[in-house]
Amino acid sequence: MTDEKAIEKMVYDQQQGWPLCPRCGERMPNKLTHGALSRHAKGVYICAACGTDEALRDWTGNVKPLSDWVLVRVYNGDLWKEAK
Ligand SMILES: [Zn+2]
Repeated sequence: MTDEKAIEKMVYDQQQGWPLCPRCGERMPNKLTHGALSRHAKGVYICAACGTDEALRDWTGNVKPLSDWVLVRVYNGDLWKEAK
């Protein structure tokens, strides 16, 4: 799956009410817009902790690849459901 496709799917899933942060799998705030808008996945909301992490990683140039995002790993089939 290309990054573009994954992002498209994440935006769609969030519109359908996907309740977890697509990046780390933690619960999102009840209102998605209370989270942070990802700098790398356009239009995708992530939790506040991930928003901070993205900013820090940008600063150090150590960007987490989209293929490491929990929801993308679910799409790719290498992670089914992570119960936390
Ligand atoms: Zn997160």
